[in-house]
Amino acid sequence: MRVLLRGGKLITMNPKGDCFNGDILVEDGLIKKIAKKITKPANAKIVNCQDTFVIPGLIQAHTHLCQALFRGEADDLTLLNWLKKKIWPMEAAHTKASLKASAQIGLLEMQKLGSTSILDMGTVHHTNILFETARASGMRYWGGKCLMDRKSQSGPLWQTTQDSILETEKLIAEWHKANDQVHYVISPRFAVSCTEKLMIECREIHKQHKLLFHTHASENKGEIELVKKLTGSNNIAYFGKLNLLGPNTVLVHAVHPKKSEVDLVKKTKTKLVHCPSANLKLGSGFAPTEEYRKHNITVGIGSDGAPCNNTMDPFMEMRLAALMQKPLCGSTAMPAKSAFSMATINGAKVLGADKEIGSLEVGKKADIAIVNRSHPSVATVEDPYSALVYSCSGRDIEHVMINGHFVVFNKESLMFDEDEVLAVAKKEKQKLLKRI
Ligand SMILES: [Zn+2]
Repeated sequence: MRVLLRGGKLITMNPKGDCFNGDILVEDGLIKKIAKKITKPANAKIVNCQDTFVIPGLIQAHTHLCQALFRGEADDLTLLNWLKKKIWPMEAAHTKASLKASAQIGLLEMQKLGSTSILDMGTVHHTNILFETARASGMRYWGGKCLMDRKSQSGPLWQTTQDSILETEKLIAEWHKANDQVHYVISPRFAVSCTEKLMIECREIHKQHKLLFHTHASENKGEIELVKKLTGSNNIAYFGKLNLLGPNTVLVHAVHPKKSEVDLVKKTKTKLVHCPSANLKLGSGFAPTEEYRKHNITVGIGSDGAPCNNTMDPFMEMRLAALMQKPLCGSTAMPAKSAFSMATINGAKVLGADKEIGSLEVGKKADIAIVNRSHPSVATVEDPYSALVYSCSGRDIEHVMINGHFVVFNKESLMFDEDEVLAVAKKEKQKLLKRI
């Protein structure tokens, strides 16, 4: 299958940061050629990209598909109340059917808003459903079963350490690299809900299978105090003590690190994910991402779960990531290009996949989003990073390609029956709310 993307403004995010008007030839799922003008090869479908930005598919490095149905059901709360009173009971009320409906509407939303890869934290049960639904959607998916074995801090989602590990091992065997686009990730929820024994078991499994380790850390001051009470350490320092930090570890949030913890993250090349909307909505605080940037710490970006955002628009996250640093560090902090990097090449680095995705370069996977420039908010803006970070939104996404296949074309999903997904999601949400 060949596609020629003709005549867009290419924002490559390659090491030189090239941006120019040109063509991209996609063949067999890969970017075959990039040039100012490419002669149409035989059998190529031509897609006119005049008046668009052609950008690397956006990478959401932290999501919870399982929570998509809970949107609007848990507003205006602090983190621990939000989790214990609302999110955990709703996650525990999922059936296979409601979890599938949640994953479908979440994937549909994210693809329509330009995301081509996600790092997703599952819930405790029915993890197979998330993998099956993600695989069917064409999304490039990193995910795993959420682990919660500390009985006093897991509510209705508690599971024994042994069951948590046995199920994880079964899921790795079934799903890790089940195809080119599906990756298993070890996913203990956070230090509050997980025992030290479980964390150590997770460390062994993630090292043995060379998997990513994905967890929340230092999101909120109340959480950090609780971790200190439970473990005797600060949150990130605790992971350091357990030898859980390293280049394959992804810590989400890192809003309130101690100076020594920033040094530890830097020294161990641990990856971080910034979720600006969630940090604002839950009142958690301002992650020091400008400081991370100055230390060359790799930071990706994520919308987090739908009930703490409440939209999965990566453009909104990029905009907030740039804006939130300016009152703290001055208006030159976190320039637009750096915020755009978080959702592209740096997101790919978080996933350990920057040789394959995150930029438009020959030989990389053809994960590409095409952004319409005709909206009055955008039409006159020449600087692409300014346009993409400060003016565009998911509204402007025109086409989305993953692995060389369009999943969204002319703003419509090619993977889902949109009306059906919405109807089932509404029905399953009502049924779920009655089960709580
Ligand atoms: Zn989260």
